[in-house]
Amino acid sequence: MFSQILSLINGKIYVSFKPLKTANGITLFGDKILYVGSADHADILAKLQNGKVVDLDGKVAMPGFIDSHLHLDSLGIGLNTIDMRNTTSIKDLQDRLKKFAATHPEAKWIRGRGWDQESFEEGRWPNKSDLDEVVSDKPVLLIRTCGHAAVVNSKTLELLKGLSKPLEPPEYDRDNSGELTGIVREDGVKTVRNMIIYTSEEYIKFLKDASDHAFSNGVTTVAIAGCISEVFKALHLMLANNELRLRVRAFLSKELLPYAKVLGIARNFGHPNLKISGVKVLADGSLGARTALLSEPYSDDPSTSGVPTISEEELHRIVKESSENELQVAAHGIGDKSIDQILNAYEAFKEYIPKLRHRIEHTSVIRPDQIKRMAKLGVGTAVQPHFIPSDWWAVKRVGVKRAPWVYPFKTLLDAGIRMGFSTDCPVEPLNPWLTVYAAVTRGEYEGIELSKYTANEKLDVATALHLYTQGSAQILHEEKELGTLEEGKFADLIIIDKDPLQVEPRELKDVKVLGTIVGGIPVYVSDELHLLA
Ligand code: ZN
Repeated sequence: MFSQILSLINGKIYVSFKPLKTANGITLFGDKILYVGSADHADILAKLQNGKVVDLDGKVAMPGFIDSHLHLDSLGIGLNTIDMRNTTSIKDLQDRLKKFAATHPEAKWIRGRGWDQESFEEGRWPNKSDLDEVVSDKPVLLIRTCGHAAVVNSKTLELLKGLSKPLEPPEYDRDNSGELTGIVREDGVKTVRNMIIYTSEEYIKFLKDASDHAFSNGVTTVAIAGCISEVFKALHLMLANNELRLRVRAFLSKELLPYAKVLGIARNFGHPNLKISGVKVLADGSLGARTALLSEPYSDDPSTSGVPTISEEELHRIVKESSENELQVAAHGIGDKSIDQILNAYEAFKEYIPKLRHRIEHTSVIRPDQIKRMAKLGVGTAVQPHFIPSDWWAVKRVGVKRAPWVYPFKTLLDAGIRMGFSTDCPVEPLNPWLTVYAAVTRGEYEGIELSKYTANEKLDVATALHLYTQGSAQILHEEKELGTLEEGKFADLIIIDKDPLQVEPRELKDVKVLGTIVGGIPVYVSDELHLLA
């Protein structure tokens, strides 16, 4: 199948965004780009080899997006979970459950999320009998919008009864007669969640659904931040069955480091569609929960400066062992104090950085002195511009004085720091255009407070697109093969309905992906581009 030649002609093809290079024709041979340049030449090249020619008729093509930090399995699980947001009644909740059960006969567990009894017409909480009426043969877990409570059916309660701990309030609600109602709270929710162990087949289904979602959004390569063994195994099975079209890069969860060590697995191990890049480690929590580690207390809660999730010794050990085994470290650092700790650990083994390009994930609150230090050490970063509108309360957390330290993308770039874009999906939506829009506008049109203090950190569209393609390829250390449409690179590209460099900033979030090609193979084709199929 890889002897096929495909030429796309008469398009506006962005070959790269830095420098800005365009072409009218491109020829794909097998999984690589054979030629990029004039439409006439691309046309002839394909015809000489009895290849296929698709006339783009003025449409825009560009390199596929590389999401440098996300959670592909959680995205897939989310796509296989019932959306219970805006449920208006218990009847509505039952209807959604019924529909999902009918369309997902393979599911061993049924999960849903997002209901709120405050908006139920019945004016009461849902209970196990409500669920039993619809699904009684398999366990159901429907989590409330807050995540701190859930309703389960009798089948789930049966499974819970097999546990050593008795099911008592406050974790498990009982009615006046002492019977379990089906409402579970706090640790009870966690206990039920932990009972759900997915099989390889289920993981494969989640990962396939997540891949399809990626393709329809124009994402051709993703890096999984914290890949667990079950997910790696499922990806590997997909690859063996020739079912893995998405390019996946795994940053193993740190528990897997000893195994990589024993096997002698180093960065870049694998196949063009599935590689191990390195190890992911968490150094703090989140700004939202005030668990990100700050050097000064939170402005809206002076009693705390956050919570470390790892000791400095442990962090040093992981950086040392990963470095010695040629694995790239991706360390989650949101608060400036945790960034200090990560930089200390990186600096202690700095001789490895040029070769391994260790990264900081998120880099949310970073001081000017740290930016200099990062640049000097050659440490890169995977950032998520869509955190800006989502963390609309960020200035409350850190105060006005520290506001300029929050997501300072332009300053980081000007300092010469390698940067890639990402979504942390499902934390933020996978759609890259929402992220590009956020990087360009920084919440200006949404009235996000941070935009007032950091307007100088806005990026132009070409820079944002560069960071989402070549920039991400650089922090994955794969810029020689991915990120632009230059000859010899992998044929990973997308066709879109608008020219992002010509539209108004507000319109960026509405750009639609018409087609996605990975390794020369069309993996997503919309009706508007049926010629490609
Ligand atoms: Zn993440």
